[in-house]
Amino acid sequence: MAMRDQFWQHYSLDELSREEWEALCDGCALCCLHKLEDEDSGAIAVTDLSCRYLDLDSCRCSDYPRRHINVPDCVPFDVQSARSFYWLPDTCAYRRLAQGRALPDWHWLLSGDKNLVHTLQVSAQNQSISETLVPEDLWQERVVRWVESDSDQKA
Ligand code: SF4
Ligand code: SF4
Repeated sequence: MAMRDQFWQHYSLDELSREEWEALCDGCALCCLHKLEDEDSGAIAVTDLSCRYLDLDSCRCSDYPRRHINVPDCVPFDVQSARSFYWLPDTCAYRRLAQGRALPDWHWLLSGDKNLVHTLQVSAQNQSISETLVPEDLWQERVVRWVESDSDQKA
């Protein structure tokens, strides 16, 4: 089925075709950055350390079909995830539509430019490094504030 005109405005997430669902992803790869959870408060902090399978040039998973085998905690992404994953970046289309909000105006479905997410530096490109380059006991020092989410609140 072809993508319906302005489907993101007229249909809910659970009414979308597979193609429409995939088209919502802006390719920012911010969900592929490591997150640290405070054991006491449950608050989540985002780091600038990317999953080892993320190709930082393209901002794409280098082995997408096997992602759940390669990384067991690479989360399956569905409508329920969009509604409950409070750590998703504020820019994420799934999160925004699940909250009844609009797409960001730079989103490729509005702008027609899939590279704009990188040009505007709202993606992991040129702002993150591979987890393999930093020992785990130093990850705390890699927490960043430029990824906006509801990470100060536990769902
Ligand atoms: S944060 Fe959302 S829009 Fe960005 S890559 Fe992940 S699923 Fe796609
Ligand atoms: S396995 Fe791929 S999709 Fe999953 S977190 Fe790593 S880079 Fe992202």
